[in-house]
Amino acid sequence: MVDTDWADEVRALARERDAVILAHNYQLPEIQDIADHTGDSLALSRLAAASEASTIVFCGVHFMAETAKILAPDKTVLIPDAAAGCSLADSITADQLRAWKAEHPGAVVVSYVNTTAEVKAETDICCTSSNAVDVVASIPADTEVLFCPDQFLGAHVKRLTGRDNMHIWAGECHVHAGINGDQLAERVAAVPGAELYIHPECGCATSALYLAGEGVVPAEKVKVLSTGDMATAARHTSATAVLVATEVGMLHQLRRAAPGVDFQAVNERASCRYMKMITPEKLLRSLREGTDEVDVPTATADAARAAVTRMISIGHPGGGE
Ligand code: SF4
Repeated sequence: MVDTDWADEVRALARERDAVILAHNYQLPEIQDIADHTGDSLALSRLAAASEASTIVFCGVHFMAETAKILAPDKTVLIPDAAAGCSLADSITADQLRAWKAEHPGAVVVSYVNTTAEVKAETDICCTSSNAVDVVASIPADTEVLFCPDQFLGAHVKRLTGRDNMHIWAGECHVHAGINGDQLAERVAAVPGAELYIHPECGCATSALYLAGEGVVPAEKVKVLSTGDMATAARHTSATAVLVATEVGMLHQLRRAAPGVDFQAVNERASCRYMKMITPEKLLRSLREGTDEVDVPTATADAARAAVTRMISIGHPGGGE
């Protein structure tokens, strides 16, 4: 139960600071409930850019707050704990990417949005899981593609595009490790009639996307949905049970959207420890003290913004809000 004094103080401080509070879907329930908006990282970054507030308090992991700063360079962007990292984003550094590019001169670099600003700055086109196939398909067939950092999304895209000149970086998110093929098939068989929702905008569910494509679960039961579409599908589903193959924080939004449906995690332990570093106490401290401010050097931000802007112009980049 949320302490009303805490909630009142958060709201009052946010007003004083002219701040909008954004929370990723994988945040703790009390953080999601106090936020002005919840959503996936791209939707939130776009909201940050469109917001009239001068300060953005981004409750999520660091690369997401950086993306908000890249798209809203004139605003103050705060994250309640700058140490909230991401194992997927950390699986490739800008130096590693530069070395990889040197081995493949002329290749086009496609990076999933779960990357640092420095890696985005070395990237030609960013992608989300929703438009990754369209982004890769937009590159001339005879041009090599370097895809990073998510190996599952990369394998999925390579399979769908049939491209053999696509190199994939061997990065992954630690959370997805708990969502494997046997478990996915077993959970679907154990809950007859259940639908399976996959929201892959954070790397933790890209393995489920890959496994669904492998035929591990019947295709007609699988719904790959953006956040907004997932909440809409939840409200309209005729299924009594829905299995959710993503980080467990997503269940909070779904249960709020459709209280009559039995939403179950494919893996209860699929919880991101970095996301959970943003606690109610740290949010309060952030608003009181203006910590931790996120800064991206101008040249890095400009180069990264170009890669993100190209992403937004190709296909349906996801978000759905
Ligand atoms: S769930 Fe995985 S991809 Fe998402 S923030 Fe956590 S470590 Fe990164």
